[in-house]
Amino acid sequence: MNMVNKNTSNYLLSDLTLLKGVGKKTSSLLKKKKINTIFDLLWRLPKSFIDRSQSSKIKDLKIGEIQTVTIVPNKYSFPRIRNLPNKVTCKDDTGDIDCIFFNGYEGYIKKILPLGKEITLSGKIGYFRNRYQITNPTYVSEDSSIIKTKHNKYSLTEGISEKIYNNIINQIIKNLPTLNEWHSNLILKRFNGINWNNAIIELHKPENVGKSKTDYYERLAFDEIFSTFLVNSEIRKKIKKIKKKNKIFNLDSQKQIINKLQFNLTNDQNKTLEEINTDLRSSTKMFRLLQGDVGSGKTIVALLAALNTVNSGFQVAVMAPTEILARQHYNLAKNLFTHKINIELLSSKSEPKIKKNIVTKLSENKIDIIFGTHAIFQKKILFKNLGLIIIDEQHKFGVNQRKMLSDKGGDNCDVLLMSATPIPRTLTMTIYGDMDISIIKEKPKARKEVITYTKPESKIDEIIRFIKKEIHNGNQVFWVCPLIEESKKVDHTSAVKKFEFLNKIFPNQTALLHGKTDIDEKDKILNRFLKNEFKILVSTTIIEVGIDFPNANVIIIENANKFGLSQLHQLRGRVGRGQKQSTCILMFKSNLSENAKKRLNILKSSTDGFIISEEDMKLRGFGDILGFKQSGIKNFRLADPVQNADLFLLAEKEMRRIENNNEDISKFKTLMKLYDQADIINDIA
Ligand code: ADP
Ligand code: MG
Repeated sequence: MNMVNKNTSNYLLSDLTLLKGVGKKTSSLLKKKKINTIFDLLWRLPKSFIDRSQSSKIKDLKIGEIQTVTIVPNKYSFPRIRNLPNKVTCKDDTGDIDCIFFNGYEGYIKKILPLGKEITLSGKIGYFRNRYQITNPTYVSEDSSIIKTKHNKYSLTEGISEKIYNNIINQIIKNLPTLNEWHSNLILKRFNGINWNNAIIELHKPENVGKSKTDYYERLAFDEIFSTFLVNSEIRKKIKKIKKKNKIFNLDSQKQIINKLQFNLTNDQNKTLEEINTDLRSSTKMFRLLQGDVGSGKTIVALLAALNTVNSGFQVAVMAPTEILARQHYNLAKNLFTHKINIELLSSKSEPKIKKNIVTKLSENKIDIIFGTHAIFQKKILFKNLGLIIIDEQHKFGVNQRKMLSDKGGDNCDVLLMSATPIPRTLTMTIYGDMDISIIKEKPKARKEVITYTKPESKIDEIIRFIKKEIHNGNQVFWVCPLIEESKKVDHTSAVKKFEFLNKIFPNQTALLHGKTDIDEKDKILNRFLKNEFKILVSTTIIEVGIDFPNANVIIIENANKFGLSQLHQLRGRVGRGQKQSTCILMFKSNLSENAKKRLNILKSSTDGFIISEEDMKLRGFGDILGFKQSGIKNFRLADPVQNADLFLLAEKEMRRIENNNEDISKFKTLMKLYDQADIINDIA
């Protein structure tokens, strides 16, 4: 303990066994709960407290309650018979009480309860054969001040008692290092000047349990947010320092392609394309996210960037999450670009000979653009001159995965990620802070908005009548059934049953897709649906993100209240891409809760993915949205993007200020070290 300098963060990052009273056993119990350092322990907050500060006389003790009493032991009884407990008779000036120990050794009992000495006890008061008793008292001490206070109650880890826990926390609080303030005065003022140290102390005071609208709580939440932003900002700066060979191209072929399109690019498409072109031409590496709602037209922007990259003499790799989406992008590129540009699709279904041929051609710079799934980044695939990696729909990649990707192509390789998953404004920096961001807000003008209805299941006849009419008019229909998940087993019966039901009404026009459909089969079904070979696709799985089904204009979502709003919005985005009016029907079982009604109404009243994600987060909380929780994206310990929205904005402002002033960030080293022990930090520090 004395070995560690108390004015540094080292104490906080030390192993738990450094603490008095924490041995291998306790520390391994805590490690199971992902508490590895002293710092980690600080964020386990008390849930409530037990007030042991008032002591009673024996005659006033309340049976069944936790009480504190000061007594004098006056007789031991150690029966030495199995199952009979050891007993110490104690008294004060009003009566007697027996202290019962089921497991106590004689020596230990004599030590903590010496005859004739005044001792304070605290524990639950019992009554047995007309006598007060206290069994295995929680606290026993000659020093009543240790006991007569408020004791925190934690949600305990199995095997660690209240008392041990409180001792550990008190010990840490006592030894808390005094850290140099890292924040500017302006930021500190927002929290009325409370420093880190005092904030931690306040956080653990029993009387502050559950108080989160306080300066100390918000200061600590801010620290946490700010350190995440800083680390992201450092990654971004670091990537920007990478020098690359700038790409040289003119816009002739870009213009030619744009003229060939049946539509005009939207302002946002033009703006984001320009941002990307500027990055390609610069001599620093691009690491950019192209974010835009479903159907906002990201693909064409990315393909034009690919074209410019090829024209400057580099190769491009385009990665999609599924083969079918990769193929759709590949077909689009084939249609748009002249035959002078060599385009290939690397499919898992290609024959080995063809695959080998592709690998060879890539290494000889004979392929300009390669499309595929993550398979295009296998080790054995070497590019002669890779200049741009485009990744579609991988919004669940975490910071580390993205950084790996950015390293993959080498210094000359720019990186463009695309995501159709709008996220709340407050989370942008948290989730994508390591990248530059281009946003397409505007949707193509000609597009008709999808009309959204809610319908109870009991009105399924109306729905059937409606889709009969739509099919009669040449349209196609998605019918989505949610997965029923019970103890990790996934149940497809609802989709299978619905398929059988619909297939009777629409024979030979219905197909079924679910999680157990094998990949080849799934591809086949989706391709046949794209070719309009059948009219209704019943599925459980989320219909492949990103795929364009221009002829589908009805989507029915059963048990809609089981999905997150953003997910529903994504599903709805599968329709409404063609010229025709599209419809989304959200079905629900009767008796929707008020909250569920509210959520479905948001979807009815808005088609803006950004607004929907904000509302979704307000109603369901962070973590739940879009499954980001599973994606390894930062989970905050105190900060809450809904409750502390203002702090997220403040942190972003402060970070921009620091970036713009090119301020030295070494004063934040301790903060970053404490809060973000991700590997990435090693590269920075
Ligand atoms: P996403 O942004 O979801 O990836 P896509 O790039 O797949 O969207 O585009 C969706 C559909 O919109 C495609 O059929 C595409 O051809 C069409 N599209 C793209 N840009 C425009 C535009 N400016 N005007 C009209 N339609 C467009
Ligand atoms: Mg897309």
